[in-house]
Amino acid sequence: MIRPEQQRRAYLQAMGIDIWVPRDAQEPMDDGHDSAAGELPLAGELAQGGALDWGELRACVEGCTRCELSQSRTNTVFGVGNSEADWMIIGEAPGAEEDRQGEPFVGRAGKLLDQMLTAIGESRDRVFIANILKCRPPNNRDPKPDEAAACRDYLERQIALVRPKIILAVGKIAAQNLLACDDPVGRMRGRDHELNGIPLVVTYHPAYLLRSPSQKRKSWADLCRAARLASETGT
Ligand code: URA
Repeated sequence: MIRPEQQRRAYLQAMGIDIWVPRDAQEPMDDGHDSAAGELPLAGELAQGGALDWGELRACVEGCTRCELSQSRTNTVFGVGNSEADWMIIGEAPGAEEDRQGEPFVGRAGKLLDQMLTAIGESRDRVFIANILKCRPPNNRDPKPDEAAACRDYLERQIALVRPKIILAVGKIAAQNLLACDDPVGRMRGRDHELNGIPLVVTYHPAYLLRSPSQKRKSWADLCRAARLASETGT
């Protein structure tokens, strides 16, 4: 559902963004997915059982002991949203509140992410939100490479099941892990990327935007670009 212009403007203002829409920005499309299921190549099949369905995958994640984070977690944070979403948002890892609630992006940064989604006519229920890691790193430290590697199959399977039209990588950790590079976000954003044949847009992490509100304008441009790419992907 596309929100009326007035409402969109109100949300943009709530984000602290003056109204500014790039000339080539288009409204997000509200149409279905194309192509048959199972076409996306997986980077790696799940070690325990190959191409799992949603229930099997969730059970695998809930019981996961692949890395040491399983010892300190309160809850696994599987991901949330529409299993057939056009948009997949991928962040870094659960924080304290996410670990407590078992849901991604429920803290302050999550509130801003919700506002960003609303601004583009999407919502937490319509997109699918996941993280590079399903378990919280202690003291919110960065994910270690072996932790990200251990969790990667789960995310790959989620991407294959959702088959989104666009992937939005929020923040350096998500973007660097997904694209296997160590570029800063400033260099990755605004460029064409893809993951498993799906266009991928890099933007700033909402937690960074809370600390650096002047960058919200760039983030809005990234969202508009992602919306345009999503509308160009399939029918
Ligand atoms: N930051 C993230 O990257 N993911 C979350 O789920 C919460 C905060």
